[in-house]
Amino acid sequence: MKIPVLTYHGMNVMKNTYAENDHLALASDLETIRTLGFSIIPLSRVVDWHQGVVADEQVSRTVAITWDDGSWFDYYDLDHPSCGVQRSMINILRDFTSHDGSSRAVHATSFVISSPAARNSLDQSCMIGKDWWGDQWWLDAVSSGLVDVECHSWDHVHPELDRVAQQNQDKGDFRAVNSFADADVQFRRAGDYIGQILNGKKPTLFAYPYGSASPYVVNEYLPKHQAEHGFRAAFTTRASAVSKTDSVWLLPRYVFGHDWKSPQGLEELLARD
Ligand SMILES: [Zn+2]
Repeated sequence: MKIPVLTYHGMNVMKNTYAENDHLALASDLETIRTLGFSIIPLSRVVDWHQGVVADEQVSRTVAITWDDGSWFDYYDLDHPSCGVQRSMINILRDFTSHDGSSRAVHATSFVISSPAARNSLDQSCMIGKDWWGDQWWLDAVSSGLVDVECHSWDHVHPELDRVAQQNQDKGDFRAVNSFADADVQFRRAGDYIGQILNGKKPTLFAYPYGSASPYVVNEYLPKHQAEHGFRAAFTTRASAVSKTDSVWLLPRYVFGHDWKSPQGLEELLARD
């Protein structure tokens, strides 16, 4: 048995078409998931199942949804400069649940970049400098019951940042995080900050920026320093559904735009497992 985890990036808005807009893709995919008879479960439940806490029967024919980077596109409807107002990712979930008066179960996990300074700088370099990467929505998102806020590193070792928490300023590849000092910032400090904003609810799930991690992180830091960082599972972007034989520090996810690009592509992917 396997459970697919689907990943979207709310800031991927190029046109108002399925293939070039992760918001339109999510809205369409929710309908496809439902039509195919799948239910949506929180990512934490996938991990519970992987750890043997939840039985197979309780999670058969389910999927989980995740969003990466944690910009305001996850939470607020925003007026995109060329594509017009974009329904936020959480509001797309709300639209789906209230579709026909019946309440459909829906949930997503938003993997956010933790460092306020990194988000502030990336807002200028990767978006349009409208201050659309703040964390003031995290607590409300979690309180809604529709979204969990989890961790996508301290600074994404992003190439657009002047300085990152990597000893040689080796940017653009999270596998460069391969020492205790760097991992302590990218995981423990990142988790502590998110927990502070969420009134003490520290993240327990991590998604690696760029989808992969160093052997040091996977084999040493994450398993051996759990008391310090508090994470219980980490996700890559290896294109597969989660199975119990996967390492809990290398759980796979499918990424929209890479692993499927059309509603038919999603159907094929869900039929695979
Ligand atoms: Zn990312």
